[in-house]
Parts: sequence; structure tokens; C-alpha cells
Amino acid sequence: MHALEVHQAIKNYNKVKALKRVSLTVRKGEFFGLLGPNGAGKTTLIQAILGLCRLSGGTIQVFDHDVVAEYKKARQLIGYSPQEMNFEKFFTIEKNLLHHAGFFGIPRKERNKTVQALLKQFGLTEKARVQIFKLSGGMQKRALICKALVSKPQLLILDEPTAGVDVEQRHDLWKYLRRLNAEGTTIILTTHYIDEAQALCERVGIINLGEIKVLDSPQNLINKYCDSRVCIETNKPLNKDWFANCKKWHPHIKENSVSAHGERAGVMTEELLRVILKQPSYRVEDISVNRGDLEDVFLKVTGKSFGECEK
Ligand code: ADP
Repeated sequence: MHALEVHQAIKNYNKVKALKRVSLTVRKGEFFGLLGPNGAGKTTLIQAILGLCRLSGGTIQVFDHDVVAEYKKARQLIGYSPQEMNFEKFFTIEKNLLHHAGFFGIPRKERNKTVQALLKQFGLTEKARVQIFKLSGGMQKRALICKALVSKPQLLILDEPTAGVDVEQRHDLWKYLRRLNAEGTTIILTTHYIDEAQALCERVGIINLGEIKVLDSPQNLINKYCDSRVCIETNKPLNKDWFANCKKWHPHIKENSVSAHGERAGVMTEELLRVILKQPSYRVEDISVNRGDLEDVFLKVTGKSFGECEK
């Protein structure tokens, strides 16, 4: 059984084709990232999964329940944490969560237990009686996730869970999300931070103009789409003519360093070193090899840099 199965999803808003036959599956227990530039179709897809937007074609199933025909069953299995704060901000976290638990029909005597367990799970017990607006941005985000988890969903959808939160608090939140996922909750994440997707997600789907362009683990995507970059520094200035036989790696010489990129880092490095060490009294001072990252994949696939996506 898959946590999510999207089959040939189409959504047209009059002439705008927001989703063009999108198909994807998310495995039970997976941490999945949905990435794409603004206007790619991420929100439309999430809204369709939540049963809030009717597809023009195709189907979506959550743990084998069709999100339209079996809306209630499917929706009960999903927790959704939106970008915007949806709290009564003058209430305490505890009160907000208790209200929400009541709204979900959780029996009165179970509510407090559920809420206290969540506060503990997300390191918020000490802040339970603090009004939401007095909390730091990172704590507010954690509280938002607790709210999405009150109904004990099996699939958690997080829309930009760390937007606007400082680095330390983001890393803090990752720790809580990793633990939640390790305990069995399937997580789908949209984010504008590429390092977040790379650090957390087992697989990512990159969507652009309503189509899933690539879908794989970050490492496989990097291996497939990114060249290796080698940079060698020497004790003395280099001469570009020495590298005439290395043109296929596009060597770039800048004073004491040569950098190049290509598919096979080993062969490339060996060849560049051979050229350098042939020169009398030349020594290698430093070597670095980089494989590129998910940001390079994103740029190749969408033609846009990740930074351009920030709202
Ligand atoms: P993303 O979340 O990736 O930024 P969206 O799903 O919001 O993308 O939008 C996908 C496309 O659908 C965009 O071209 C957007 O302008 C269009 N769109 C989204 N919602 C509506 C709507 N309610 N009416 C008309 N067009 C819409």
C-alpha cells in the first residue's frame, strides 16, 4: 500500500493548465520532497490531495482511499501544516491544541493526553501556557506542526515548515521531523530551502509548469544531472597552454589554480595532475572535488535557480 498515489492528475483553471497529467507515488513511511518554482503547481496538487480542489482529470488515493469518493476516510489520515499561522494567537499553545482536538472530535478525556504528548514530542512542554504570539518563530512553526498532528495522521503534509525561521531553529525543527518520520509518519514537504530537501528527503519530485520533471533520491539526481568539479591549487602560476589536451573538461586557469568539470572526477583529476607535475618544481598545494548539489539539479531541470523561487 502506498501513502499517496497520484494518477494522471489534471487541473485546468480555465486556460491555465496547473497540473498536466501528474503521476507520483509516495511510499508508506517515506520522507518526500515536492520542489518547484513559483507557479509550478505544488499548491494545486496539495489542495487536490486534501480534497479542497477538484481535479479536472485523474485520481488521487491516500492509503488506498480516493480523496473524492472517500473524502472523509482519506482526509482523516492526513495532517496538514500550512505556511500561514492558523492559530488564535492570544491563546496559549495548549489551549489552541485542546480546541483543535475538540474540533476533531477527540473525546474530552483523551484530549489532554494527546496534547501533552505532542508538546513533549516537540519540546514545547515548558511553553505550553505561553500565548502563541509571544513564542519565537521556530516555536510557532513547531506548534503549527503539533496542530496538524493532533488527529494522529499517518500522512503529514508540510507546506514550507521553516520559512522565515533562523538557521539554528530550522535545524532544531529538522530533528523533530526526522524523529516523527522514524516513528512511522509519512511526510511530504514543500520547501524553498534546497539544503532542507537534501538533508531530510529520501526522494524529491521536481515539478515545473504542471509536470513532474524528475523524481528520485537527491543523490541519484545529483549523480545523473551534475558534473564533478575539480580544483587544484599549485605553488606557482599555471599556464593555460599546458592544458591543451584537457579541453573536454573545460579547464579554467586563474593564477595558481586550475578548475575543471566533467563526468568522471578520477580520470579528470589524474590527467590534470599529470600535466601539472610534468612542470619542473611545480607542487600541488590543495585539491578539492565537488559533485554539485540539488540546487544544480533544480537549475538544470527548471531553468531557474532555487533562490528565484523565494516569495
Ligand atoms: P505553486 O504552488 O507551485 O506556486 P500553484 O499551484 O499555486 O503553484 O499554481 C499553478 C498555476 O495555476 C499557476 O499558473 C497559477 O497562477 C494557477 N492558479 C493557481 N490557483 C488558481 C486559481 N484559483 N485560479 C486560476 N489560476 C490559478
